[in-house]
Amino acid sequence: MAKTIFDRSKAGRRGYRFSPVPSGRPEGIPGEYLRTRPALLPEVGEAEVVRHYTALSVLNHHVDKDFYPLGSCTMKYNPKMNEDIAANPAFSGIHPEQDDEDVQGALEVMHTLEHKLSIICGMDAFSLQGVAGAHGEMLGMMLARRYFDERGEARSKVLVPDTAHGTNPASVHLAGFTAHTIKSGADGGVDLDVLRDALDGDTAVLMLTVPNTLGLFERRIIDIIDCAHRHGALCYMDGANLNALLGRARPGDMGFDIIHINLHKTFSTPHGGGGPGAGPVGVKRALAHLLPFPRVELDAGTYRLVDGVSTGVRSIHSFYGNFAICLRALAYLERVGGEGLARISAAANLNANYLAKAVSDLFPIPYGTRCMHEFVASGQDLKQACGVRTLDVAKRLLDFGIHAPTIYFPLVVPEALMVEPTETESKETLDRFVAVMKQIVAEAKENPGLLAGAPYSCPVRRLDEVSANRQPVVAAPLQ
Ligand SMILES: *Cc1c(COP(=O)(O)O)cnc(C)c1O
Repeated sequence: MAKTIFDRSKAGRRGYRFSPVPSGRPEGIPGEYLRTRPALLPEVGEAEVVRHYTALSVLNHHVDKDFYPLGSCTMKYNPKMNEDIAANPAFSGIHPEQDDEDVQGALEVMHTLEHKLSIICGMDAFSLQGVAGAHGEMLGMMLARRYFDERGEARSKVLVPDTAHGTNPASVHLAGFTAHTIKSGADGGVDLDVLRDALDGDTAVLMLTVPNTLGLFERRIIDIIDCAHRHGALCYMDGANLNALLGRARPGDMGFDIIHINLHKTFSTPHGGGGPGAGPVGVKRALAHLLPFPRVELDAGTYRLVDGVSTGVRSIHSFYGNFAICLRALAYLERVGGEGLARISAAANLNANYLAKAVSDLFPIPYGTRCMHEFVASGQDLKQACGVRTLDVAKRLLDFGIHAPTIYFPLVVPEALMVEPTETESKETLDRFVAVMKQIVAEAKENPGLLAGAPYSCPVRRLDEVSANRQPVVAAPLQ
């Protein structure tokens, strides 16, 4: 394992220093708050610091390093242009408590992004407060709750297909509803008969992931939404992967009442290690007054950050969400323009279909090779033929410098491999992935033990993932 920066410390070693460090007691700080002994800081030179962190930065796989076809996560390239704009001191140097007059540009960024997202999605209003997809889902469900409270209707059920994203039932639960799973039809879409049976006067929301996690568009979407509306339910779209539909179809036009989208997927902003992201929520007019404060408003040519007491959902995040992420997303949107949106979805869907076709000989695709932005293949045949599991295939991919696809999800496909190439990958990269998959299948047949031991080239081999999750050790002991 890599040493920590403390292991590299050598007493008395220093980086560059431009001016002498003041000695003595700093002015204005009461004595009780001062250290009694020096801080335990590592003593290292500049080159060692740079080399240490550069080495750490490539220990993990990341999208600047190589292909990252993690299904549903949309690990597309993050343009460096976005980073330049977000690092501009005119943005990075401002503070959320500043007067509106001083931060007109920042308020305009938020207002413009809300407006553009509304147009792209066919919704009437957006809130940028959600800082992750799941956070947006939670806000969406809370909005639904307030909506029915206001109407004096006590509805408790939310219908969620078995092909929905895993965060959906959790968000439903957090907002105080109960999630009811509806079984998908043979074609992987919502089965209208099953839906009709499940819908009743107690149904608050029909929550759909579109495209669903099989990478399929709901062909009967108009009938599905109609059916839910006729029972007085709201329709929620999980639009985390809107890159499949951008510039071609608008969820609002399909009849959805609430949507969240992931700026850190569709709109090219970084995912970070669990954050910061952004999961803006859009609604139709009937729910707009329920969105949380503060809201950005344009008042006679001046932008205002308006606070207030909402009759709907109170704030779900400090200030207004992750501003710098919203800024990156707007930079991207301005760069690609309206016409570019349709090219994004064309390339996302083309890349996925190209890969689906190319790997389907190796790994069958139970719901067909015509997909949207992703597809789900099955490792079941390979497992039966040579005892190699999808997990082993995923681990072996790491030895070729490729991140594994999402595995064992959705549950409707046995030994699932969920592959999402995204629109930013070249044909050469896709072809290399296919060649590597071919080699892995050949290895599985000749030497299955090889795959069971993979990966061989990573800083760590097979982890006890449950313990790593439940009892994480995230700090090195201090000497
Ligand atoms: C990624 C994803 C989410 C969750 O987004 P987070 O930002 O990880 O919370 C929800 N739904 C779908 C369909 C997704 O792909």
